[in-house]
Amino acid sequence: MEITAQSVWSNCLAFIKDNIQPQAYKTWFEPIDAVKLSGNALSIQVPSKFFYEWLEEHYVKILKVSLTKELGADAKLVYVIKMENTYGNKQPFTEKIPSANRSALKSQDVDVPFNNKSPELRNPFIIPGIRNVKIESQLNPSYSFENFLEGDSNRLARNAGIAVANKPGGTSFNPLLIFGGVGLGKTHLAHAIGVDIKDKYPEKTVLYISAEKFTQQYIDSVKKNNRNDFIHFYQIIDVLIIDDVQFLSGKTGTQDVFFHIFNHLHQNGKQVILTSDKAPVDMQDIEQRLLSRFKWGLSAELQTPDFETRVSILKNKLYRDGVEMQDDIIEYVAKHIKTNVRELEGAIISLIAQSSFNKKEITINLAKDIVEKFVKNTKREVSIDYIQKVVSDYFQMDVNTLQSKTRKRHIVQARQLAMFFAKKYTKASLASIGSQIGQRDHATVLHACKTVDNLSSTDKQFRKYVEDLSKKLAL
Ligand code: ADP
Ligand code: MG
Repeated sequence: MEITAQSVWSNCLAFIKDNIQPQAYKTWFEPIDAVKLSGNALSIQVPSKFFYEWLEEHYVKILKVSLTKELGADAKLVYVIKMENTYGNKQPFTEKIPSANRSALKSQDVDVPFNNKSPELRNPFIIPGIRNVKIESQLNPSYSFENFLEGDSNRLARNAGIAVANKPGGTSFNPLLIFGGVGLGKTHLAHAIGVDIKDKYPEKTVLYISAEKFTQQYIDSVKKNNRNDFIHFYQIIDVLIIDDVQFLSGKTGTQDVFFHIFNHLHQNGKQVILTSDKAPVDMQDIEQRLLSRFKWGLSAELQTPDFETRVSILKNKLYRDGVEMQDDIIEYVAKHIKTNVRELEGAIISLIAQSSFNKKEITINLAKDIVEKFVKNTKREVSIDYIQKVVSDYFQMDVNTLQSKTRKRHIVQARQLAMFFAKKYTKASLASIGSQIGQRDHATVLHACKTVDNLSSTDKQFRKYVEDLSKKLAL
């Protein structure tokens, strides 16, 4: 039988397949094509530079062994990098390295013929030290389990987190979804799980990332034509922590790519940890298939902590900061700030700051002043649901009427006002506002916002509506 590039490579593959994990084989070897055999040099085409770097970093030995078996002691491997049409129809960029040549195995010896034109590697975490494919976990070590005080409000989530940290990927809590309101400790708990895993299993690749950053990276990868690198990058992670997944709402492209990454990780027994400000049932504009994945594992809620837990959180914080404070003052603060741990801590910090700047003793009166300011200054976050409720109440209709398809003028106006305030008071996109207020599209919302602007400068009655509603919504 004639020896061809394909036959040599398929023998190599058979050997490699027997010697590495099936998933790794699938990810890193199946996409490769053998393109040329000249003498003892085999050229293989890899999808991207990232791919080539990865093979060199992790699989050069096995490549060398397999190729030497086929082509003898001075076998050479040449990579041809297929850049996914970064520059339109230009010729594929190629880069060659004589790999199975002992002295050339080190990166310094890599012969890069067009190095001045070499496209940069755009993987988010790997630039610039590409040789060092070591993923920074992005974890904050001060967010530990130890510092995360347990109470009835968080017992389930905290203990599920500990179980996951003991056996990442090995419990039925996969994914673990932690949900709850602002400032209740979702980010803290998510980090704590990651920190503990890193501690127990240093060899595991753990990555914490906000859904917002994940989305930006994804959009970037699409722009720069390395969506596959992006996906591969995420598929090699052992423990993936994505914070604030509600941010993905309405972002279908990112949801789609996340869906594939999620499936890959889940199938391979990797752990996924998610946080969200809502329970899966209440998430808007998240594809059904993704929501159903979220429900596969455990959804654990962080509720507002009870008084005892608030007191212990404060005491713990003061203790760690080395500050002493009378119990009655701590209790006063804990009694009045109830819904948000971040604010609770904020109030204590300002109390300490006030007293030290002004050389005042920390008294209950000082605590009263500060708590009062705190409670007043903290803006409530308004949701689109809340806006629709306030607007419908104001016009004495129910929310269903406000969302209905009717063209009756006063209902249309109410709906437009709801859209206008949703735009003004939330960070939701026009598309997401539209879909939450009666399944309209983004153009309708944009039109509504313009109409409200126009009418409030020409119609006195209408201006009154806007003013009244602004007052009701700006708590
Ligand atoms: P979220 O992500 O839910 O908005 P964070 O995780 O950012 O909330 O928490 C806000 C602050 O409250 C952080 O400083 C965190 O350390 C603190 N915190 C929340 N819950 C607890 C808890 N149970 N014990 C100690 N600190 C907590
Ligand atoms: Mg958070």
